[in-house]
Amino acid sequence: MAAQAHDLIVIGMGVGGEEVAGRAAEAGMDVVAVERKLVGGECPYWGCIPSKIMVRAGDALAEAARVAGLAGRATVAPDWAPVAARVREATAGWDDRVAVERFEKKGGTFVRGEARVVAPGEAEVDGWRLRARRGIVLATGGEPAVPPIDGLDRVGYWTNREAIEAAELPRSLVVLGAGAVGLELAQTFRRFGVETTVVEAAGHPLPGEEPENGEAMAEVLEAEGIALHVGTSARAVRPATGGAGVAVELADGTVVEAERLLVATGRRSDLRRLGLDAVGLDPAARAVQVDEHLRAGGGLWAVGDVTGRGAFTHLAVYQGRIAAADVLGRQHAPADYRAVPRVTFTDPEVAGVGLTEAAARDAGVAVRTGVARTASSARGWIHGPGAEHGVVKLVADGDREVLVGASVMGPAAGEVIGLLLLAVKERIPLPALRQLIYPYPTFVRGLEDALRQLG
Ligand SMILES: Cc1cc2nc3c(=O)[nH]c(=O)nc-3n(C[C@H](O)[C@H](O)[C@H](O)COP(=O)(O)OP(=O)(O)OC[C@H]3O[C@@H](n4cnc5c(N)ncnc54)[C@H](O)[C@@H]3O)c2cc1C
Repeated sequence: MAAQAHDLIVIGMGVGGEEVAGRAAEAGMDVVAVERKLVGGECPYWGCIPSKIMVRAGDALAEAARVAGLAGRATVAPDWAPVAARVREATAGWDDRVAVERFEKKGGTFVRGEARVVAPGEAEVDGWRLRARRGIVLATGGEPAVPPIDGLDRVGYWTNREAIEAAELPRSLVVLGAGAVGLELAQTFRRFGVETTVVEAAGHPLPGEEPENGEAMAEVLEAEGIALHVGTSARAVRPATGGAGVAVELADGTVVEAERLLVATGRRSDLRRLGLDAVGLDPAARAVQVDEHLRAGGGLWAVGDVTGRGAFTHLAVYQGRIAAADVLGRQHAPADYRAVPRVTFTDPEVAGVGLTEAAARDAGVAVRTGVARTASSARGWIHGPGAEHGVVKLVADGDREVLVGASVMGPAAGEVIGLLLLAVKERIPLPALRQLIYPYPTFVRGLEDALRQLG
């Protein structure tokens, strides 16, 4: 089969692939990009953007409910129709024409189809052979990971994709998984009146975050009327009594019934399907191993979720920028993952950067922590409802007097983490952080209390 030659083949055009392909094409490379679904990937169509549109709508309802304690009376009648309409507007009805044109205007060649690596520098798309003079970039992201639960394949279930596309809401919902995706959707749907149950195998929601956040989040969810089962997992799933909906049997024997089941138990990458054995990589691996230049081998790079370094759009774009520079042979700073921020857009938001206390101890750091409650800061007290569960936790290396991690839970936590991100990344000495003049009365000023607690 004759192969069509290009400088660079980019497989997968999510945010990571778009970043590399766009930069390389703008620099004058002959780039062919292959995408089997939509250019833009998960984030604009089934992830960050539509989910945050939903979260914003749910937050508006929650704020209205807080009027009672602050400003009188507000009556709301939740309606999913405007939310579904905004999601359709944001995704252009799941149409990527604009994104394809944006790439083509940069000089790239776009191919719709599923690509498979068949040899070093060579890929196949629907019987077409492509060859790359410079190399291949893998940017294939991930898929919802569906656990092997007895009966799950015989009942219908939602992943984030069906949940985001929902034009109407079910009466009741069971959510498996209390990570960011599961909780953002669970809280939003509950605020629109859906009877919601969340099941989490770990001992608290948000298992990747500090236990202080997970425990406070459990209180938030329960106060909103979400039934929470932690420390247990789904053992079997079958059609509910009467045939409508699903019955989920938990490991502790509890049976939960609902009209719909949402599986939000993480993401996975299928490297076998991508043909990575053809370039000597382990197709059974969970992720493609990359070095600090995002190189996975000779003439092979990988960026984004497929690298297993964290599933965030900002991380995929960061890696994409470095990989593009490396592909182009340009000077660049190597990838540094010490200060990758994470934000869960629940209400209150939960944001983190760097190491948790447990991870820092595991890494042998001489840990010191400082914890402060938002409600006892000036702004937290003024804010009142919505700030009750806020907490800031700083994790310091006591030997070097710098922060190695931090978490913030509270209103606008995703913004407050910005300062801490800089502190962790640039190893700003604790005395310098203490000497800053924090604006009064802001949530960011609440950091002073936690810094004081560090001693
Ligand atoms: C519900 C939800 C909410 C989220 N919210 C946030 C958020 O608020 N903030 C944040 O930072 N992150 C968020 N994320 C995570 C974020 O969406 C991902 O980290 C990001 O999309 C990763 O980009 P990527 O380019 O690595 O992969 P993807 O976006 O998954 O793109 C990979 C692309 O590769 C294509 N592909 C795969 N295999 C092939 C093949 N063989 N041939 C051709 N094409 C292929 C896929 O179709 C896909 O379009 C969220 C995720 C979900 C599910």
